[in-house]
Amino acid sequence: MKVFDFKKFREYAIFIWLIIITLILVLSSLIFTQSAIDQNNRLKESLKNTYLKKTFIEITNNLKPRYSEIAYVSKSGDNYQTIINNINISNEEKKLVLNSILNVESLKILRINQKFLFKIDNLLDQKIIELRIETDKKNEVVFFRSEKENKLNSKKIEKNFTRKLVYKETVITDSLYNSAVNLDIKPNIIIEFARLYGFQVDFQRDVWKNDSFQIIYEEFLNQNNEIVDTGEIIFANLNLQNTDLQLYRFEYEKDKIDFFDENGKSIRKTLMKTPINGARLSSSYGKRKHPILGYTKMHTGTDFAAPMGTPIMASGDGKVTKVGWCGGGGNCVKIKHNSTYQTVYAHMSKFGRGIKKGARVKQGQIIGYVGSTGMSTGPHLHYEVIENGKKINSQKLKLPSGKILKNEERKKFEVSKIKIDVLKSDLITNSN
Ligand SMILES: [Zn+2]
Repeated sequence: MKVFDFKKFREYAIFIWLIIITLILVLSSLIFTQSAIDQNNRLKESLKNTYLKKTFIEITNNLKPRYSEIAYVSKSGDNYQTIINNINISNEEKKLVLNSILNVESLKILRINQKFLFKIDNLLDQKIIELRIETDKKNEVVFFRSEKENKLNSKKIEKNFTRKLVYKETVITDSLYNSAVNLDIKPNIIIEFARLYGFQVDFQRDVWKNDSFQIIYEEFLNQNNEIVDTGEIIFANLNLQNTDLQLYRFEYEKDKIDFFDENGKSIRKTLMKTPINGARLSSSYGKRKHPILGYTKMHTGTDFAAPMGTPIMASGDGKVTKVGWCGGGGNCVKIKHNSTYQTVYAHMSKFGRGIKKGARVKQGQIIGYVGSTGMSTGPHLHYEVIENGKKINSQKLKLPSGKILKNEERKKFEVSKIKIDVLKSDLITNSN
């Protein structure tokens, strides 16, 4: 005798589940409606309160403020015109602002990372009432609207920041990033440090336990001695397996700054080994079993696993030759650097601003963001280097360095280097 007809039960199981799910849905929607009614009542109740009524009026007024502020930080490829064009003002006013800026000697050259703050009165025809442009970490130029004439008056003011040089050093115990964070080094500086060494170091493989680093960089303090901003790295040394990789910041020409090793060679290479920050090398160049296709296939690039949306940089200066869909590569960008080298960046979630075919890009410029488009098992960057039309292993690439300081420049560099070395020993003495 059958006590329980399993086959029949299976036939009916789907109906039983449907009934259960329907019940859950009905019940939860009832609960939801009830709580919505309660919430509504509570809201009505509180609206009777005059104080809250006032606040409510204030909030709604604030939705359309008369005054607004627009902050902007200049990027590579920007000029004053493009920055001003993004502000919603009349063409006439744009011209006025541009001319006012160009009349100030210290603003003649627009630098990267210069801070802009536009204060706008939306009720006026000429909307900009104040514009602040940072000239360096300590100074800014402020433009005020003149009451009578149709012009902007400018004034150079000093921000109340004190510059402090900080020296930090440590032995790397787990990762370079964690060691730096433990020393309280600000993220901006860590990113810059990684970018500078990105030309010659593969962080995944070259940095070992018990390697060490030293760094000198600027910090800016306000009157309360709080760190408000970080500035430039002045010196760094990464000691990898008892080899020093030193870099000295040096202004070799007016407004032309670069980092050089102790022999006056620029650390900048034609191409970067790792065109992405904070990534983990997840699959190297060579034969491997393809994660999707399943069979052994030549992997013609290097994969870097990184969170979705991580910025991808152009590994060298060059011209964009392709932006679009590359089949298995998903959204990809291809850059031609010179007659010898090209690079490819695949599986992007989206492309960087202004990245289109024919565009000129600078080394380190953001060309796109990590994604998982095309034939991909998860967010990563697939990076390829093509040398004379042949795909090669980017991690084994030996590239000549950029500028080498000679003659007068070299002499000046030696002086500047000695100054930095003296500064370093002073800072070390003072920190002990
Ligand atoms: Zn790959």
